[in-house]
Amino acid sequence: MPMVRWVFLVNGIVQGVGFRPFVYSLAKRCGLRGSVINTPDGVEIDVEGEQASIDNFLKGLKEEAPRLAKIEDIAVKQLEPIGREDFTIGQTQRSSTADALVSVDVTICQDCLGELFDPTDRRYRYPFINCTNCGPRFTIIKDVPYDREYTTMSVFPMCPACSVEYHDASDRRFHAQPNACPVCGPRVVLRDSSGGLLKEGDAVAAAARLLREQSILAVKGLGGYHLACNALDNDTVGSLRERKIREDKPFAVMVRDIGQAREFCEVSPEEAELLSAPARPVVLLRKKDSMLAEQVAPGNAFLGLMLPYTPLHYLIFEQIDFPLVMTSGNLSDEPIAYEDTDAFMRLGQIADYFLTHNREIRRRCDDSVTRVYRGREYLIRRSRGYSPAPVRLSRQTEQILAVGGEQKNTFCLTRGRYAFVSHHIGDLENLETLEAFEREIVMYRKLFHVDPEIVAYDFHPEYLSTKYALDLPGIRKTGVQHHHAHIASCMAEHGLEGHVLGVAFDGTGFGPDGAIWGGEFLYTSLTGFERIGHLEYVPMPGGAKAIREPWRMAAGYLYKQFGPGWKSRKEVRFLAEKNGMVLNALEEAMEKWINCPPTSSMGRLFDAVAALIGIRDSVNYEGQAAVEMEQRALKAPNVTKEKYCYVIDDSQSPLVVNTGEIILGVLADLAGEERQNAIAYKFHVTVKDMVTAVCLRARERYGENRVCLSGGVFQNMLLLDMVQRSLEQNGFQVFVHRTVPANDGGISLGQAIIADERRKTGCA
Ligand code: ZN
Ligand code: ZN
Ligand code: FE
Repeated sequence: MPMVRWVFLVNGIVQGVGFRPFVYSLAKRCGLRGSVINTPDGVEIDVEGEQASIDNFLKGLKEEAPRLAKIEDIAVKQLEPIGREDFTIGQTQRSSTADALVSVDVTICQDCLGELFDPTDRRYRYPFINCTNCGPRFTIIKDVPYDREYTTMSVFPMCPACSVEYHDASDRRFHAQPNACPVCGPRVVLRDSSGGLLKEGDAVAAAARLLREQSILAVKGLGGYHLACNALDNDTVGSLRERKIREDKPFAVMVRDIGQAREFCEVSPEEAELLSAPARPVVLLRKKDSMLAEQVAPGNAFLGLMLPYTPLHYLIFEQIDFPLVMTSGNLSDEPIAYEDTDAFMRLGQIADYFLTHNREIRRRCDDSVTRVYRGREYLIRRSRGYSPAPVRLSRQTEQILAVGGEQKNTFCLTRGRYAFVSHHIGDLENLETLEAFEREIVMYRKLFHVDPEIVAYDFHPEYLSTKYALDLPGIRKTGVQHHHAHIASCMAEHGLEGHVLGVAFDGTGFGPDGAIWGGEFLYTSLTGFERIGHLEYVPMPGGAKAIREPWRMAAGYLYKQFGPGWKSRKEVRFLAEKNGMVLNALEEAMEKWINCPPTSSMGRLFDAVAALIGIRDSVNYEGQAAVEMEQRALKAPNVTKEKYCYVIDDSQSPLVVNTGEIILGVLADLAGEERQNAIAYKFHVTVKDMVTAVCLRARERYGENRVCLSGGVFQNMLLLDMVQRSLEQNGFQVFVHRTVPANDGGISLGQAIIADERRKTGCA
């Protein structure tokens, strides 16, 4: 048999995921000789042997790759055989960009899980068991390259047994950087609320006992602390709410397995798969009637569930049979605590005990939140387990930094076909978050070898991300309108070029005319946009205050509709309940447009209707009124096609959707004792109808059939489904988000792609 030699260059996520040991054993099995090394672009495999064996090898490469590996393409070349004797794993080329794609943090794998519960294994019940297929990655990295000495594991020298595994190319723990065991690795301890040591040995058993006895525990996880308690115990969950100062915003719950998930929620096969994915996100599911404490997600039709993802979680669930509230370790809107001293300071008032350990978390990384829409994933927060894995683009990009928005901030770096969208950074007005933002940009640049030549930012002059971008020395800058970024982000996900019709509905975005935009129809390309139309401007009395107090928005709409007579609407409850002086002051402010910015926001229209029909005067978490509108609509007794009137005024350009008739219709239904649920449903139908009508006109005018839906309002699944269906029935091709969120967590991707296109077409 003639010998042949082939070289395979494998691209994708193939480093730090156990790929080389896999190649090693596969080559051995196929009887091949040669070598495998990490290169700047991926992995290079050089093999010789009989052609049939090489064919087998290639088949195995594609079909049996480790679960964390993602092969994107394989380039091949044939060379002359050099008669090698053995197969070897070469050293990584450290000087290069060898760590191009750093792995995400990954839930414990089946092999490690087996060992964790095997009494004969030397890591039996060891909470830090891991291997090349699983364990912490991104959250323990201090610097590049990804090597133990640059992780927070550097303070734990490996014992001889661990060291043998680490250096054995055929071992599951070959170059597993966080490798550890009970002899040499980190330890879990139980501490009281002021940090005093309570228990070192069987800390988990003690913690489980405390959870059973109604205690609230702070538990150190992968990217930060959780606050945990029995999710069946309404009193304890209620006191967690009080201590955390979190009134209504739902808590996430960790269940032991899919079976337990099904006790509390409807779980489709797609949802089960998402729950079990290596990223282990929080998955929003339809709640069932169950024993779950009402206080977990008060009045909510959905519940966020996740499965255990660290060995420590599994060890806790070995000892308890109830689900756990697992909410982020913070006070109300603060960022979650991830450093131990900070955690004791900030969470000491909330948690009774701390189940903690001495493996340092290097960076805060919140749980990711996701759901299934039409059988596929629809992300809400892209963070732990997803970032820093890149979003794959359909184009070659320049090196760009996009700094994102202000709320739910993420930033994005691009290079080649990759967009490195950061993990969830949070709300930048918080100093701690702002510092993380600046620090992480530096880190991502290093990790992914991006040296940006352009920085893209939001037009809002007060966004701290904008200020940061404008202060960067020696780099070209390009400003992007907020809703343009939303639509471009959706385009980037789907690789769309040319023009699309964009429907961008959210709460707030800076408009170039000085108004607050948020109910926008845009004819969009990747370089610019034309505003097709928008909701009519109404005063937003009190500015940002109106976001927390939806009744102010309702007042704005009533004033717009009725002028000075707005206060006499007897059917509106808050008008009867509010102090007359307050209403008079508000009227005066609206009359003179003092602290009353005009807004076209769809989020605010949802707020106004919610307040008018008495669902909610004020909110205690972002988007609450709109969330409750959706919940009410879902409970509507029968699905109707009835809708409120609205008027599309296209005598001007951009066209304006007059909403006055909607307000009148809602008031009429209110007087006629129409139930809240039915009104909420009818309102959804109205918005769906309006979107369709405007898109039809836009299609006539621009000849464009593709529609992208983006912005935080499209986290409303009822609305999203109604709108998509209606547009499709009218022959539109509809694109929705999948890999980045529709909310402001997604706009950095849009900004980046716009900057790239402007750079290429010379518009920047
Ligand atoms: Zn493992
Ligand atoms: Zn060891
Ligand atoms: Fe937005």
